[in-house]
Amino acid sequence: MECCILRGSKEIGGSCVELSFESERIILDIGLPLDSKKDPKEELPNIKGILKKTDDLKGIIVSHYHKDHCGLLPFVDKNIPIAIGHIAREIINTSAFFMKKDYRIETYVPLENKKSFYLGKFKITPYLVDHSAYDAYALLIEAGDKKLFYTGDLRAHGRKALLFKYLLKNLPQDIDTILMEGTCLGQIDENQSYPTETQIEEDLINSLSKIKGISLIVSSGQNIDRLVSIYRATRRLSKTLVIDPYVASILEATGNKKIPQFNWKGIKIFIPEWQRSLIAKKKSFNITKKYKKQRIFLKDLEKSPNDYVFMFRSSMMMDFDEFPQLLKNGEIIYSQWSGYLKDGTEDNLLAFATRFNLPIQNIHTSGHADIPTLKNLLETTNPKMLVPIHSFEPKQYPTLFKNVEIKSDGEIWTV
Ligand SMILES: [Zn+2]
Ligand SMILES: [Zn+2]
Repeated sequence: MECCILRGSKEIGGSCVELSFESERIILDIGLPLDSKKDPKEELPNIKGILKKTDDLKGIIVSHYHKDHCGLLPFVDKNIPIAIGHIAREIINTSAFFMKKDYRIETYVPLENKKSFYLGKFKITPYLVDHSAYDAYALLIEAGDKKLFYTGDLRAHGRKALLFKYLLKNLPQDIDTILMEGTCLGQIDENQSYPTETQIEEDLINSLSKIKGISLIVSSGQNIDRLVSIYRATRRLSKTLVIDPYVASILEATGNKKIPQFNWKGIKIFIPEWQRSLIAKKKSFNITKKYKKQRIFLKDLEKSPNDYVFMFRSSMMMDFDEFPQLLKNGEIIYSQWSGYLKDGTEDNLLAFATRFNLPIQNIHTSGHADIPTLKNLLETTNPKMLVPIHSFEPKQYPTLFKNVEIKSDGEIWTV
């Protein structure tokens, strides 16, 4: 089996790997570079058969729904089989309504935990992993007598931390090559651990209980673990959680009865102006109808802003502009990577916070493994070769782990 990292050997974003064996090929992930300024279509790696399927291209396996792993899917030939988790696909398809580009995955091969399947001569075994994306997988690929394990993105400190233990228990002991993510390298010290999602819930309770006005929480609508932490914290404080139809529909797409849903106790729905226009434009009034019972308006919150925890995004700022009183004594909890507050991504949010005098605090934990977790994975599986991927610090790998071989984008090597 030959491997070529098309992108991701030295960066986080745009992950894409091509594997070939006896004149057949498969692709692992087809991500968008996160800092790309180009038209996304121009970022598509040069892969034979990607725009017009060729017989030797057997499929694309998408580890999870984060843009840096699947963002270029809308540009590939629709005849190429896509293998992705069933719920991950539901979440992509549900989000489509709210996105600029209404892309949906139609035909696909569902990834299921430990259920092996073949794409051509490649045997693929997906392992469900703990990550900030729901229904995310690591992948064991076998071809000939070789085994390659691709971690995708994973961690061991989320709400599904047990999955990491199962992974260690179930992985074969004769892995030839591991393609391992190293997002945390350069961000955290060798012996430091990330806080658990349960700790985040406690931190949220601690902060929310001290805020005197409305609490605006900024978090990814697709980070289900975090939404659960926020909901639990809100309930434990007997406050009401306000979400929008986008977040409500993602929660529903999980199909998991244990995940909070829009009609659960203590949840209200706010429909921001941009979504009202979208609903009108697409004549999708069934959405407005669906949330009629739970719907709430900003003027309703003015009486007692302190009773509410509001899932807030920059796209809702215009709605709040008309209700300055509602924001009096309010605070923002930024529940995403704090780097976005410094790199320009959140400049609009920062300006909004300044305008209304809203303090910002950061409560967050990473979606990625810390170094002790990565070491644990390597010590248990003991692979013959370790190749860095999904890291800005591949050069740090040899100082932390053994059997490291750093590969470049576009370099073809034998597994
Ligand atoms: Zn991810
Ligand atoms: Zn990623």
